[in-house]
This record gives sequence, C-alpha cells and structure tokens, in this order.
Amino acid sequence: MHDATHRLPQRRALVTPLPGPRSAALAARRDAAVAAGVGSTAPVYAADADGGVLVDVDGNSFIDLGSGIAVTSVGASHPRVAAAVAEQAARFTHTCFMVTPYEGYVRVAEQLAERTPGAHDKRSVLFNSGAEAVENAVKVARLATGRTAVVAFDHAYHGRTNLTMALTAKNMPYKARFGPFAPEIYRMPMSYPFRDEPGLTGAQAARRAISRIEAQIGVDSLAAIVIEPIQGEGGFIVPAPGFLAALADWARAHGVVFIADEVQTGFARTGAWFACEHEGVVPDLIALAKGIAGGMPLAAVTGRADLMDAVHPGGLGGTYGGNPVACAAASATIAVMRELDLPARAREIEVAVLPRLRELATETPVIGDVRGRGAMLAVELVRPGSTDPAPELAKAVAAEALSQGVLTLTCGTYGNVIRLLPPLVIGADLLADGVGVLAEALRGCARRP
Ligand SMILES: *Cc1c(COP(=O)(O)O)cnc(C)c1O
Repeated sequence: MHDATHRLPQRRALVTPLPGPRSAALAARRDAAVAAGVGSTAPVYAADADGGVLVDVDGNSFIDLGSGIAVTSVGASHPRVAAAVAEQAARFTHTCFMVTPYEGYVRVAEQLAERTPGAHDKRSVLFNSGAEAVENAVKVARLATGRTAVVAFDHAYHGRTNLTMALTAKNMPYKARFGPFAPEIYRMPMSYPFRDEPGLTGAQAARRAISRIEAQIGVDSLAAIVIEPIQGEGGFIVPAPGFLAALADWARAHGVVFIADEVQTGFARTGAWFACEHEGVVPDLIALAKGIAGGMPLAAVTGRADLMDAVHPGGLGGTYGGNPVACAAASATIAVMRELDLPARAREIEVAVLPRLRELATETPVIGDVRGRGAMLAVELVRPGSTDPAPELAKAVAAEALSQGVLTLTCGTYGNVIRLLPPLVIGADLLADGVGVLAEALRGCARRP
C-alpha cells in the first residue's frame, strides 16, 4: 500500500486520560446546550483530522477506523478538497440552483452519469443528505410508475426523516415512539447468509422475498424496491451472490423501479466505485451521499433519464441542494479518488485486514462471522457456540479500542457488529496498528467473564 504524505503525523498517541480536560469541559457545555437526543460515539472533541488520524482538543491522536461513518474516504482535510472549498467559498457560497444555476452543479451531474453503473442516458438531482436522496428517489419512482407501494428489507437503514424512518427497520434508536410513519411501505426478508438457513442461495432468498411481494402487495401496486447492496447500519450484511441480480431482474420485468441506496457503499468504499458493480447489477435509480464530497454535505439521486425526467419542473429541489461549495468539494473528491485509484486502495485494505480478522475468528469463538468488501469490513459477535448476539461485548470491545486510541463503530440490528470503515488514504502501518489494537481488545474482552 502506497503511503501518501500527510499534514498530521500518522500515529496513535494518547497524552491525557480520556476524555482529557478540554474535552471534559466541552462535554459540560454541550450538556447545557445540545439536545440529549444527539448521541456521540466518542467522548473526545475533534480539533484536527488528516489521512488516517483524528486529533482531539487535548492533543490525543486517534487512528480513525470510522471515517465519520464512511464519509471522509479521501481523509477529512484532503488539500485538493480544502482548496476547492476555499476557492469556491471566496467566489460565492450560495445562489440556490433553482434561482440562479451554476456550473459546479452541472459538472457533478456529469461526473455522476459517467461514474455510476450502466451506460444508459442518466440525469441527476442534488440534495444535502442521504435521507433526502432516498426520499426523492421514492418520489421519482412513484410519479414515474403511477404506483404507490415501496418495498424495503429487514435490517435496512435509509435515514431519519418520516419516509426514511418508515423504510428503516430498526426500532431503537431510530423509530421508537416517532410514529406514525409514512404508509405503503412493505418489509421483506433480506438475504443474510450468517442467519439464514444454511445453504440458502441468493436466488432462493430473492424468490422468498418476491413470492411475498406478489402475495402481499401485488406487482401492479409496487412502485419501487429500495435496497442497500451491502447493508450498513443493519450490520454490514452482504447478501448471498445472485440475490441482488435476481431482485433487479424481477423488478425490470414488472416495471418496478430498482433503487440502490449506495449512500454508505458508494464512492470506492467497497473496492468498486459502487457496490452494485460487484454483482453486475445496474440500478434504475441510485441514492448517493456520505463519501461523495470529502466531508461536505452533498447527496444525489442519479438514474434513468426517462424516470428522472418524468417529474414536472419544480417537482424536485430544495434551497441548499447541490450547494456550490459542496459541489466543488465533490468534483475535487472524485478527481482524487480517480487519481489515487481509491477503489484499488479499498481492495488492498480488504486484502490486508480480512485475513487477520478471519485468523482472529479461528482463535476467538465470540466472532460468529467475518464479512464485508473492500474497506467496509465487520465482525459479528455472538455467544460462543451459538448465533445469539453479544451486543454488550461489541460495546466493550469498541470502548477498549477507543481507550487505546482506535476509533471504531458498532452497528447491526442486534448491536453486536463491529465495523471498520477506515479512510481509503490510511497508510498500511497505521491500519495494521489499528487492527492490532482492535484484535487485542477483542481477545481481552472475550476472556472476561
Ligand atoms: C447514512 C445512510 C443514510 C442516511 O444518510 P444521511 O445523510 O444521514 O441522511 C441512508 N442510507 C444509508 C445506506 C446510509 O448509510
């Protein structure tokens, strides 16, 4: 793995107990000013971040294995992105594309048409968040088909707005007591190889979902299938090979819009530009956000021109959608990803990390499953000898790793999955150190009664 040069020293170094005094003081201010409903994984406050490290306000340097939830794939302060942001901000920060359009928006739409799967004619519309992108993809699908029902899957995560909460599967913390939810959402079984009956193929898992769709909804009512090609918050669930393709084929045959939510899997994260490519699937619409703009808030729906252009002028948009500073960041980010060949970097990360996790699984019976693609990797923790989830263990391991200077995230319907989403520009040595600390944390916590 090529080690790029970075502004900050790429090392793990703790200089205070955690949280340090400055973070502790900020936490007290926060409690008095910030709503309790916003959680934070780490008790430390960020001061600086670059490449694979994040430095807190007390000078502690952490290895970042989370990328702010799969966002800072090019690092949190890539000089090309920072320069593009500064340059655009010095010209104009906003006009509203719906009032006075600008080239940056058009350029991002061109880049998305070029980069996303499929050689067909495409159009894009830009937004601010992943939830907004998913919600608008559903709007497009309903209008273009004249149908209302939408299928989502077990373990799905699509956001926190009313419609995307309805699409999301998990009760706590995303949905509990926030209802009533948007109607006409139907949940179908996902392909989850670790928890499905052994040997269930992707085609069989797709058939299981399709027969329920046909029985419970009826094809004539179904506007869209919304699916993450690899589920993110739900537990980094990689469906069995053929599952996505079978669903997409069935959708195409019945005039159902196949929407890939690539908000987390997109932009080089899984070793391809988009995770659908691993399965040879070309979605009708694709929802994008997170890694798209090097940390600036930007999201998009890109898809078949005939579907996108079915919407009347004025039917899509938003005050800030496709903000010019965010667009400048996205174009710089996409250029960096291409020049550094970050899909290849993601594959290198998989080759470096996955065997270590598999080895760890052979000696640690609490690891029930090791899975993922590219730089989207996870271990699912269970009670030894069973598939019973061990969420408290996942929490303990993440806390122990953090106390040693390594930031990881947990996820999963059962909260028992530790996920790794390192910046794609992380150096090989730093990554090895981070995974080593995680492995030690896992061994140590697994031994505890
Ligand atoms: C994060 C995420 C979303 C929501 O994105 P926001 O920008 O937080 O609204 C939607 N879908 C998937 C798959 C995600 O990972």
